[in-house]
Amino acid sequence: MSTDHAEVRADVLAANLAEVTARIVAAARAAGRGADDVTLIGVSKTFPASDVRLLYDLGVRDFGENRDQEAAGKAAELRAGGIEPRWHFVGQLQRNKAASVARYAAVVHSVDRVQLADALAGAAGAAGRTLDVLVQVSLDELAELAEPAEPAEPDGKPGTAGRAGAVAADVGPLAEHIAGLAGLRLAGVMGLAPPGGDPDRAFGRLVVQAEAVRAVAAAAQCISAGMSADLEAAIRHGATHVRVGTALFGDRPLMSEHVR
Ligand SMILES: *Cc1c(COP(=O)(O)O)cnc(C)c1O
Repeated sequence: MSTDHAEVRADVLAANLAEVTARIVAAARAAGRGADDVTLIGVSKTFPASDVRLLYDLGVRDFGENRDQEAAGKAAELRAGGIEPRWHFVGQLQRNKAASVARYAAVVHSVDRVQLADALAGAAGAAGRTLDVLVQVSLDELAELAEPAEPAEPDGKPGTAGRAGAVAADVGPLAEHIAGLAGLRLAGVMGLAPPGGDPDRAFGRLVVQAEAVRAVAAAAQCISAGMSADLEAAIRHGATHVRVGTALFGDRPLMSEHVR
């Protein structure tokens, strides 16, 4: 990028960050909460490491990615440049990617089954690291009715959003399993409001599961909920982490793996 382009991009990102921050502050105030209780995660998927660097320079320290290959590349590029943000892995994850994710991620938001938790625990041990993990809860009410399909392993395509996540009956047992694994720290829950649904209803369901997870480990206080379109509803329901892509970085190119 030429210097001119970089300056224009820096201005765009600064304006977007100011707007998102103002939304978080207003939503927290309306909920009687402190804005400091809500961590902004910039979801940088499809956007270059240079954008992460610009936002890092503006004070953002947490970034999210949903594909291992892209995330690993960005993390390495930034580390070489002396920048080590906290990386949050927020996408559906196959077991054979656990070793790679465990090398750069601080938090994995998408743990929705025992086999994946086991793979991450092994990978964290091998990497000499401890990973914070969130139990991803399905907020799709139809998923509660159907027997959930096993996620594709190991070479299936990442599933569509809304399919991922543990159903309510599995959340407590999965949390207990994670709490018993060395290398992982049970940190809370994550949820995606189903597109087109009522976010308040979805996040209300997430709060119930957040309590179930806190009953397993009192320290598991994170509620990762809310994206560009619904962060206000998420903060109203107690979100501690909002995952914001579009409102910070702009529209993503329509690449199939990233569409949701
Ligand atoms: C892409 C993505 C986001 C960000 O979505 P926006 O609507 O662009 O803010 C949040 N969470 C997950 C899991 C994502 O994949």
